[in-house]
Amino acid sequence: MNENVGVDKKYATALAEEQGKSSLSSVTQYEPLQDTFGRTFDYVRIAITEKCNLRCTYCMPEEGVDFKNGEQILTSEEILRVVDVLARMGIKKVRFTGGEPLVRKDIIQLVEGAANTPGIKAVHMTTNGIIFPKYAKQLRDAGLTGVNISMDTFDEAKFFEITRRAGVEKVMESIRLAQELDFPRVKINAVAMRGFNDGELESFYEMTKDNRVTVRFIEFMPFDAHQIWETGEHFLSAETMIRQLKEKYPDIELASGTRTEHHIFQVPGYKGKIAIIPAFTRSLCGNCSRIRLTADGGIRNCLYSDQEYTLMDMLRSGCTDEDIVLKFRKAFNDKAKDGFESRKKTAMKESTIEFKGRSSMTQIGG
Ligand code: SAM
Ligand code: SF4
Repeated sequence: MNENVGVDKKYATALAEEQGKSSLSSVTQYEPLQDTFGRTFDYVRIAITEKCNLRCTYCMPEEGVDFKNGEQILTSEEILRVVDVLARMGIKKVRFTGGEPLVRKDIIQLVEGAANTPGIKAVHMTTNGIIFPKYAKQLRDAGLTGVNISMDTFDEAKFFEITRRAGVEKVMESIRLAQELDFPRVKINAVAMRGFNDGELESFYEMTKDNRVTVRFIEFMPFDAHQIWETGEHFLSAETMIRQLKEKYPDIELASGTRTEHHIFQVPGYKGKIAIIPAFTRSLCGNCSRIRLTADGGIRNCLYSDQEYTLMDMLRSGCTDEDIVLKFRKAFNDKAKDGFESRKKTAMKESTIEFKGRSSMTQIGG
């Protein structure tokens, strides 16, 4: 048996003793997933499909990308098996993303399965909000605890310009409904783009006055299938956004958020919060707690790394849970210090592991 598995067994025994149990429970627990920089990973983001009902210019070309289908995509059983193994490695939070997770027919089953996995404390989803109203109640009943709804503008014409489809009213309806159904966490994801929605930032801030939501401004990242990023003219840095926010609300207070939401604020008396996510400037990599799994079963140890460790073949050829554990350990042993180092490593192709260039966020899982 592999040495690391022995370590995991020892860990499980120690855990069982600590919990006052005389013997190992029938379900093996594993050592927490850590990297060589001492970071512990307890949050998995799973892209469950590459398909989408919108075509955001910063994400996908009009004709879409070369979507994987059918057998090339992990089944719900495979996804839930991986979630179960990860939960036994200390992972507590699952996010379903994509592509658009709600275009997947078994989404309710996936949410329910993840929510019922021992050890999983939170199941969240990132959605574009177009068909969310149709499933919202079922998702809440199935155990979904948080929803991030993406919306970059309040203006229908601009919405069409960015997504190449209509639907801003539907997205607003989704935001209202998520609050009405009392989802514990409701967030709005807005990609901040100079010359596109920078004139609307104040309207977004003001949404937090009466809505129990966190509005998150995300820096534009170069995963846009070579559409508009190359000009660079749309980039709006986290630093600039924080400065503008403080100018507008001089008495704004720091608030608490997740580990990668350190730039989080609340206007005194407002119900919601405002977060600024330095997705491109990568100043919060030291707090990274994320594991990414692509729709076709690739483990990614960083958004900026093209290095992937595929689980698909193993899952389909009778691997053990320990084999899955070891694959995650290998991937996270290789994790670079930050997103810049990941990018460098990718550019140098210094590893023998397969490198997979992916052109769109829909393939990586945003
Ligand atoms: N379809 C869902 C949605 O749009 O919410 C989930 C997948 S989407 C890839 C996840 C998030 O990534 C969205 O909030 C989207 O705005 C963001 N995103 C996509 N491409 C991006 C880019 N180039 N830069 C910054 N954020 C991006
Ligand atoms: Fe679809 Fe989300 Fe990408 Fe927009 S950002 S094209 S909604 S996956």
